[in-house]
Amino acid sequence: MAFPAAWLDELLSRNEIVSVVSSYVDLKPKGRRLWACCPLHGEKTPSFSVSPDKQVFYCFGCHAGGSVIQFIMAMERLTYGEAVRHLAERAGMEMPKETDDRELQLMRAHKNRLYEATRAAARYYFECFTDPTLGKPGRDYAAQRGLTAEIVKRFGLGYAPDSWDGLMNRLTKQGFTKKELLDAGLLVHNEDKNSDYDAYRGRMIYPIIGVNGQVLGFGARVLDDSKPKYINTGDTPIYNKRNNLYGLYLHKNEKLADLIMVEGYMDVIGLYKAGVTNAVASLGTALTQQQARLLRRYVETVYIAYDGDAAGQNATVRGLDILKGEGLEVRVITFPDDLDPDEYVQLYGKSGFDRLKENAQTLNEFKVRTYANGLNLSDENDRERFAMRACAFVASLQPIEQGRYYKLIADMTGYAVEALEAQGTRSGGMIVNDAPTRRGVFRRRNDAPDEARTVTERTLLAACLIDPAATAYARREHADELIETEPFKALLVALYRDPKLQLAQYIAELDQAAAETVSTLLRDDGAVQNGLRTAEDCIRKLRAERGQEQLSALQKRLSEPNLSAEERMELLQKIQQQIKAKR
Ligand SMILES: [Zn+2]
Repeated sequence: MAFPAAWLDELLSRNEIVSVVSSYVDLKPKGRRLWACCPLHGEKTPSFSVSPDKQVFYCFGCHAGGSVIQFIMAMERLTYGEAVRHLAERAGMEMPKETDDRELQLMRAHKNRLYEATRAAARYYFECFTDPTLGKPGRDYAAQRGLTAEIVKRFGLGYAPDSWDGLMNRLTKQGFTKKELLDAGLLVHNEDKNSDYDAYRGRMIYPIIGVNGQVLGFGARVLDDSKPKYINTGDTPIYNKRNNLYGLYLHKNEKLADLIMVEGYMDVIGLYKAGVTNAVASLGTALTQQQARLLRRYVETVYIAYDGDAAGQNATVRGLDILKGEGLEVRVITFPDDLDPDEYVQLYGKSGFDRLKENAQTLNEFKVRTYANGLNLSDENDRERFAMRACAFVASLQPIEQGRYYKLIADMTGYAVEALEAQGTRSGGMIVNDAPTRRGVFRRRNDAPDEARTVTERTLLAACLIDPAATAYARREHADELIETEPFKALLVALYRDPKLQLAQYIAELDQAAAETVSTLLRDDGAVQNGLRTAEDCIRKLRAERGQEQLSALQKRLSEPNLSAEERMELLQKIQQQIKAKR
């Protein structure tokens, strides 16, 4: 849904961000901004800030950010349209007719078409599943896996028949273009033959549904043991796996005590079948901060229930730290005998699972045990190695937490607790404690420091926002071509068109991810003094970096084997040009 710009401007000015936010949290002034403990993630010292001049909010802890509209979306768990309606009601404004901004309209219309296409595809797969002949392989598989009619309905499962064009024919007949189907990830393009074909064939289909009920993409599983076992929709204009969790939409309007994090669709469904209805899956990625933030809006406690072999991996441990960094309480469930969650509940039922959950490890206990991975604790050398690493970790914890973990290491190794404490003290807690520090508001958590390039891009945008001369210069220099962060690039282009652009109004139209990226501009709000000079500086830096990247790429190609004499010559010439341009 898109709204006329003038109406949206009025909506924003009638919903002054400070007054809206103040109805949720107490804002305290400090510097050019107002601060509070973030209502979107748990914390005890304020890292949530609102800029009254820019009418934008940004949290240094969880990086949520945007205009008053994105704030309401996050707070009230609303879609964009719903949040706008909520604010219109608050301000006593009538909802308007459609917008006049053509480009925005086209983009939204395209996305809506993709949502319609994925929905139509889900319907097609379901119909194939129920088709007496076409769907038999799928139904046999479902029966064998205990997927009842209720489960099929609840999760919207379907079957993609073994055909290269079944879906393509059906959806093009319904008026979808091939481009739309390709963009939605439903078709695949074959370069060699210059033709398109169905992305999923002869597979069980698991629709991936967003928290607002839209079909975003699909997971597809083979019915036998062939490879690849799963195919998933890649990133499309409507789906990014890093921002979503499978199964979360089922809980949109529920109050939950906790959520259980598993790895795949079958784990979510398997647990559901057994009566454990609050599992969600990360869909084959290491946990991301966006996912953690999404979880934080639903619950305070997350149980990790990964397969035995996956749980000890470093990626998992990092994921757990991300969850903790977002203020979530994290527990780890481990399954005996290398069982996965689905297998475990099939054997031991809900009551067995509940028992495991009651005995779930704390994050620190889990970490201590992880140090023993790959070591044999009945071997004395390994035992020492384990104890030294684990003690260094324990020494890095809060003093009152340490006792129980030294005790755990003692139980695992047979060493005396006193000896372990001495060992820990000696190591001085050299392992950096991964627990979030909440000392200063500017302390970012569990977050790689910004890359120099991102900072330069951000500074350039900050300069253009305060100084039209900087924007004019950036435009002459085609600075947008040097910017890699998409939302920044788009903002710069928008500034070319309207150098006086109001940030909050601009952000109000963006989707959540882009709004958050643009809101990071609030991080160094007020740091830029001379807009034009800063812009010149930043553009010079970005250009130098781009030149260096191109040079490295050329040099890398030069070192490839099997280059012909001509290719080598051509590359050398290009490299020379690059080096000259750098001077
Ligand atoms: Zn926050």
